[in-house]
Amino acid sequence: MAWVKLFKKPGGALKKSYQPGSMLSLALTKGLLNEPGQNSCFLNSAVQVLWQLDIFRRSLRQLSGHFCLGDACIFCALKSIFGQFQQSRERTLASDSLRNALAETFKDEQRFQLGLMDDAAECFENILERIHLHIVSDTATDGCSSKSCITHQKFAMTLYEQFVCRSCGASSDPHPFTELVHYVSTTALWYQLDGLLGKSERQRADMFGELLQAANTSGDLRSCPSQCGQSIRIRRVLMNCPEIVTIGFVWDAEQSDLTDDVIRSLGPRLNLSGMFNRVTDDNAKRSELHLVGMICFSSKHYSAFAYHSKSCKWVFFDDATVKEVSGRLQPTIPTVW
Ligand SMILES: [Zn+2]
Ligand SMILES: [Zn+2]
Ligand SMILES: [Zn+2]
Repeated sequence: MAWVKLFKKPGGALKKSYQPGSMLSLALTKGLLNEPGQNSCFLNSAVQVLWQLDIFRRSLRQLSGHFCLGDACIFCALKSIFGQFQQSRERTLASDSLRNALAETFKDEQRFQLGLMDDAAECFENILERIHLHIVSDTATDGCSSKSCITHQKFAMTLYEQFVCRSCGASSDPHPFTELVHYVSTTALWYQLDGLLGKSERQRADMFGELLQAANTSGDLRSCPSQCGQSIRIRRVLMNCPEIVTIGFVWDAEQSDLTDDVIRSLGPRLNLSGMFNRVTDDNAKRSELHLVGMICFSSKHYSAFAYHSKSCKWVFFDDATVKEVSGRLQPTIPTVW
């Protein structure tokens, strides 16, 4: 069970095309059908968030050549839904073609099969991984440097982790890896909330990156690689500057007493330099990302919030239902839960 939150770098002219009272801007938001027994809410939520991500939508539109898998082609199915979002006059569309392609692609692993509920965060991540495969056709996802690969150009965090002893200076070999979704345990997050006591709401919001880092490293104590007797923490270093960062919150239990506290701790802005021990890219050091999308899981059902940049409004997506959320102009946490 996981939540996904997506952050992106603020666009230059966020409010330029907005005309107050214009219905046209929201006309491109449509619901996605979820008939009884389909259990497609996990997929519908992931698709809505991807469609509302301007960077992703525009990048996908520019791509046509790909390694096609015919009926099982996730790339074609996603393109087809996006085409209908753009052109169809219907208020509600079917996501069946993508559901079928996903089921066919993951048949051998028995994941995302028709009629069965699945995990929206994993669905989101797997769609991105498949797009990489359709464009690059290389199963090695770490270190992908293809300029046309939206997945790695826009979403991937290139990291390495290492244990370094502050006492004797000994270090483990650096372990490089790539991450599309940065998972954080909500229980670990909750344990770090004490560190925010006495801080104002504004200060707390500014420290969201630090909070994530603390939650992600708190349990990772090892003994020093040179056996000097010290216990040391893992260090994670970010080496690129991703345009979109996705955080997956992992709940350790279906029902949790921590929910209210955890929700209150979620910040609408994210500094990459706070989130990691070190950030090497100069743009990443300065970059502040804004919350633009969220997939939520509640009562065994997924729904999504996405920031509609043309109207500067948050929109709530619950399968066929699409609702505008009370209108604050800045990307901030939506007020409806
Ligand atoms: Zn195709
Ligand atoms: Zn790639
Ligand atoms: Zn040591």
